[in-house]
Amino acid sequence: MLELSVGVDIGGTKIHAALVDGQGRIYVEEKLPTDSAKGADSVMERVLQSIERMLDSAPRAAQSAAIQGIGIGSAGQIDFSTGTVAFAVDTLPGWTGTRIKARTAERFPDLPVIVDNDVNCAAVAEQRIGAASGLRNFICLALGTGIGGAIIADGKLVRGTYGGAGELGHVSVDFNGPRCSCGNRGCLELYASGPGIARIAREGSFSFADSRQVIEAWLAGDSQANQVMDIVIRALASGISGFIHTFNPEAVIIGGGVAEAGERFLHSIRQETERRTSAAMWKAVQLEPAAAGNHAGVIGAALQMWHYSVLELRGEGGAG
Ligand SMILES: [Zn+2]
Repeated sequence: MLELSVGVDIGGTKIHAALVDGQGRIYVEEKLPTDSAKGADSVMERVLQSIERMLDSAPRAAQSAAIQGIGIGSAGQIDFSTGTVAFAVDTLPGWTGTRIKARTAERFPDLPVIVDNDVNCAAVAEQRIGAASGLRNFICLALGTGIGGAIIADGKLVRGTYGGAGELGHVSVDFNGPRCSCGNRGCLELYASGPGIARIAREGSFSFADSRQVIEAWLAGDSQANQVMDIVIRALASGISGFIHTFNPEAVIIGGGVAEAGERFLHSIRQETERRTSAAMWKAVQLEPAAAGNHAGVIGAALQMWHYSVLELRGEGGAG
């Protein structure tokens, strides 16, 4: 019998839900606006209704499918053991403290529920079906509206004390830099996220509307865009070099909307990171684009159901 799980990826702008099999294939999916301004209860209700539609569509998606459970990935810092939001920024107002796992389990009492941070879920997707297949030490960077990170060391996600580990966007690459929402100065997120790139362009008084325009002009050889991207790439390389020296990974996997700039972007990051990284460390590591792409969040959310042992789901053991 075909085994399927419901995956849900909760972001600041959209909720993406899907029915996914153990190989990461999507059978049914839907995307809807998060409508986060309406508050946490409204977002949670939209998530639960989306899960319900996925479960209802299972018989049509596959003749005889057995639903294994519900896997959810959410923006913000997630306490993995309780499935509660430990902290979320203002893209999801009021989301901090939301008991995602408990409320989902109340509505769907017969199914196991796993909840983690969205980039941790993407890392699960990369490890099982993507660019980190077979790797036990790697780092995922998601360059989007912010910068998210996930760290896999000795085969396991590094979660930290309450699930907050891996906030790689808040590693400073300039201690005199602009003030960040976290309190520090010069965080990587201020340079290499979409809004960060737009900020650099604005401060240079260049007439780009957003990061997408900067990247398009850069790929076309525009000299102003070149000045902006030079800063972006040096900031990223500085950050990535720090991660490499800290974790000695086999791979750094770079995804998110900004990374869609493609191979030239990646090539530039490789070159600059090599200059900033000690030779032995550099020799051991590869910088690769995310392979699971735009769907990594929802696929990884669902793949959690096959990734963790039943013991760990009950909170009785570590990752297998
Ligand atoms: Zn910060």
